[in-house]
Amino acid sequence: MDDVILVGGGIMSATLGTLLHRLEPTWSIRVLERLPRVAAEASDGWNNAGTGHAGLCETNYTTMRSDGSVDIARAVGVAQQFATTRRFWSTLPTSDFLRPVPHMTFVRGADNVAFLRARHRALSAHPLFEAMEYTEDPAVLQRWAPLVGEGRTGSWAATRDATGTDVDFGAATRHMFDAMARTGASVETGREVRGLSQARDGSWRLEVRGGRPVEHARFVFLGAGGWALKLLRQAGIPEARGYGLLPISGQFLRCDRHEVVDRHDAKVYGTPPVGAPPMSVPHLDTRIVGGQRSILFGPYAGTNPRFMKHGSLLDLPRSIRRDNIGSLLTMARNNTPLIALLLSELTATRATKTAALRQFVPHAASADWAIVGAGQRAQIVKAGELRFGTEVVASQDGTIASVLGASPGASTAVPIMIEVLRRCFPGRELDQRVREMLSA
Ligand SMILES: Cc1cc2nc3c(=O)[nH]c(=O)nc-3n(C[C@H](O)[C@H](O)[C@H](O)COP(=O)(O)OP(=O)(O)OC[C@H]3O[C@@H](n4cnc5c(N)ncnc54)[C@H](O)[C@@H]3O)c2cc1C
Repeated sequence: MDDVILVGGGIMSATLGTLLHRLEPTWSIRVLERLPRVAAEASDGWNNAGTGHAGLCETNYTTMRSDGSVDIARAVGVAQQFATTRRFWSTLPTSDFLRPVPHMTFVRGADNVAFLRARHRALSAHPLFEAMEYTEDPAVLQRWAPLVGEGRTGSWAATRDATGTDVDFGAATRHMFDAMARTGASVETGREVRGLSQARDGSWRLEVRGGRPVEHARFVFLGAGGWALKLLRQAGIPEARGYGLLPISGQFLRCDRHEVVDRHDAKVYGTPPVGAPPMSVPHLDTRIVGGQRSILFGPYAGTNPRFMKHGSLLDLPRSIRRDNIGSLLTMARNNTPLIALLLSELTATRATKTAALRQFVPHAASADWAIVGAGQRAQIVKAGELRFGTEVVASQDGTIASVLGASPGASTAVPIMIEVLRRCFPGRELDQRVREMLSA
């Protein structure tokens, strides 16, 4: 019997495992990952955008009120959450997965320019955003982001915050698992959990494909990404009832040509197309993955029935139950522009994708950019609503917990895991001990 089993080898399990290993060093911890390596799904460096979400560049965290002022509460919240995650990362043996890359917002058209100006005024008055600069001057844009500035006409505005970051979440995940394995945890790949049942004493029995067929644990964390809901259902906890998932796939355009890559050092976020979800906001990103610099543009969001890149075409149909079908149908009815947009992206041609890129990089040469597949997102659908956040689902007795949803995701892994600890170990005050550890 293990004290802890973490199902899934992504950044959520790695974060929780590292925290538990430090707080309770005598506990036995086992990680079970179905693929041949850890960090091969959403947490892989190339499967996500690597943005350290801190509210600096994403317009969806700020909204304009009817009086023309801008509500910055969500941006402040995300910035504080990312600061907590960064404090934790600074305690790891290395943080070479985190690089300074300025975060910019770039908008076009008079209404968007007015919004960005008001957003900058509101944000730069807050201590967390005081480094943010604003410009409508072509010479400044040319200095901040030459690829975006060249050949630029019409009305536009931009902000820039030099405190932004690019994160190789895959490398961070591997670092954490390597360190756990060096200090006694068992990190096992090629092992897929296929069933869970709870014993009378509250512990869990896990059926596993690959290696030993059965494992037991006192506490189980389902860090299984898009497959977490499936496992929660197998565990049969009532807290999972009513949840459904909407799968959203994505593609990026990637440029590795160093003459182009060397001229860009920023993550430049735009505004989403009408009716589009926040995660389809186009952005032009400097990426540093495995030490190599590239530029990514996208994502082009689409849809397919898989909940993970290495998932199954039956993921969506099999997830539909009596307790979530009404909610899924209501969500589909209330979000027809979004569903239409996701389906239309599936048929978007290379020329359409290049046209979207040229709105950011007017002189982009199509031959410099290759289409690459991004990770799969499984967005939460609950009570007929599509939710864009990340939610913790935990059993009443605190013996099993999971995380659903994908945004802001990896950047907020530490606050999310503090919430898991608060809900599952109330008597031991582990969440409080993490807060103290990070404030010391
Ligand atoms: C296109 C895209 C862009 C994104 N951009 C950003 C960004 O810029 N910034 C940011 O902060 N976040 C971003 N995210 C979100 C972020 O990637 C995720 O929140 C995060 O990686 C989720 O980590 P995880 O550990 O929950 O899941 P994953 O990394 O998906 O790991 C889950 C693991 O569980 C394994 N597994 C599943 N089922 C089983 C089973 N039954 N038995 C054993 N193992 C199993 C899987 O193989 C996988 O390895 C993005 C996501 C996507 C898809």
